[in-house]
Amino acid sequence: MKKLKIITVLLFLAVLGSACSNEKEVAKSEKLQVVATNSILADMIKNVAGDKIDLHSIVPVGTDPHHYKVLPADIEKSTDADVIFYNGLNLETGGNGWFVKLMETSKKVEGQDYFSTSEGVKPMFLTSKGKESEQNPHAWLDISNGIRYVKNISKVLEEKDPDNKATYKKNAEAYIEKLTVLDTQAKKEFKDIPEDQKLLVTSEGAFKYFSAAYGVTSDYIWEINTESQGTPEQMSTIIDTVRESNIPSLFVETSVDKRSMQSVSKETGIPIYETVFTDSIAREGENGDSYYDMMEWNLTKIHEGLNK
Ligand SMILES: [Zn+2]
Repeated sequence: MKKLKIITVLLFLAVLGSACSNEKEVAKSEKLQVVATNSILADMIKNVAGDKIDLHSIVPVGTDPHHYKVLPADIEKSTDADVIFYNGLNLETGGNGWFVKLMETSKKVEGQDYFSTSEGVKPMFLTSKGKESEQNPHAWLDISNGIRYVKNISKVLEEKDPDNKATYKKNAEAYIEKLTVLDTQAKKEFKDIPEDQKLLVTSEGAFKYFSAAYGVTSDYIWEINTESQGTPEQMSTIIDTVRESNIPSLFVETSVDKRSMQSVSKETGIPIYETVFTDSIAREGENGDSYYDMMEWNLTKIHEGLNK
């Protein structure tokens, strides 16, 4: 009799357990389905939405969002998505235009299903001959633009998911406050560096918005990742610039092929001080694994490297 009772209880628990997990599954699929094109946007979205959404980030951490080969899973997630966020400004829409094609395949409509996080940012343009009408995408490297991104993300989420509007608003406000403090600090960061050392040299010309915001000039081997990288002409131009300058350090981005910058270092005798983050955050658990942390890391390391 006692044994029977135990079996009954166990059966009851098993039924209860499966009911619970079913319930969880239903609850999960009821969440807003969100897709981001890259890890930087995905991190901003996480800061605003927390666990209120299901999020898929397309371009893997540490790789280049200018070029990307869309996977079947990306098409599936994009087709099912309630909201898709992309950077715009010639990032995923430049080069082979992988994002534009993905939106066509997923039958998504701009302003209804997918949204540019850089909406309202004043674009800067490329300067290479013949490319003057093309936008430079790296607006997020100026934190005040990053704050604009966060506002845009929050606005779309609030509209798409009004039940969680208060949470999105509250999270966005706290996050913006934290970013504002970092932005203010960044604006003071490079004031103590001698003028002839105040030149940030990286592989891609990703720091144009950063330079304008924080008062440190930047130069590069190639202007944008969608062009040929490290051609003999590009190499000799930057090597001359570095030789004519008095800079103590070079930098290289985590999401590019490092060989060109290694050659510049070898040719000029100027060491690569650190890797910096431009088009991707770091792997989870490593330094720079969020938008805030990557910006803080960049500021600290660039300041240290140029102030030697
Ligand atoms: Zn880039």
